[in-house]
Amino acid sequence: MVETQIISRDIEDKKVINAMKKVPRHLFVAKDLEEDAYNDHPLPIGLGQTISQPYMVAQMTSVLGTCGSSRILEIGTGSGYQASILAELVAEVFTIECIETLAHSAERVVRGLGYENIFMKIGDGTLGWQEHSTYDGILITAATPFFPLPLVEQLKDGGIIVAPIGDKSIQTLTKARKIGNKLHQEQLFDCVFVPLVGRYGWRE
Ligand code: SAM
Repeated sequence: MVETQIISRDIEDKKVINAMKKVPRHLFVAKDLEEDAYNDHPLPIGLGQTISQPYMVAQMTSVLGTCGSSRILEIGTGSGYQASILAELVAEVFTIECIETLAHSAERVVRGLGYENIFMKIGDGTLGWQEHSTYDGILITAATPFFPLPLVEQLKDGGIIVAPIGDKSIQTLTKARKIGNKLHQEQLFDCVFVPLVGRYGWRE
């Protein structure tokens, strides 16, 4: 997977490549999908949600530009795979999932793998996790019409927030750096994600 889908494309960050090599992706999907886990597409994880395509996970991680001492907030734990990739690269990962069943299943897998630097919460991620803020980086792994205000407020000055921004059918992966009270945005490429619901997302 890493040779053909990650390195052969445009991912050059050695640390991201090594994390993608290390985390066993098949453990994050149902038994009957294990054989498909390393293929070049997203997979269902139940309840209408997905684990993103490996290349998309690598891209989002690279765009976030993580470094060893960082504290990252992820919105949309899903299977826990992206959180585990981040946990290989940074000091602490805080991740929020709104679907209880998915959060519990993700927690079993990440604890089974021994990650002690992943902190999980069940709830509306659009409100962020104030108690542990501010964050060096925030990654939203669901489609949102805009960057939710509480998340921008919980981002450090100089920090980076990344999200698929657009409508429900197509989005653009967007990276923004917070400088003072302003977000300096960069639109990267088109993508398709399941919707971010909640107070500052799409209304269910
Ligand atoms: N990062 C995940 C992984 O590695 O498997 C994939 C995330 S999946 C594409 C999007 C997830 O966002 C779903 O699990 C969905 O339930 C969750 N989600 C949507 N709205 C949310 C919200 N307001 N708060 C927390 N999670 C949310």
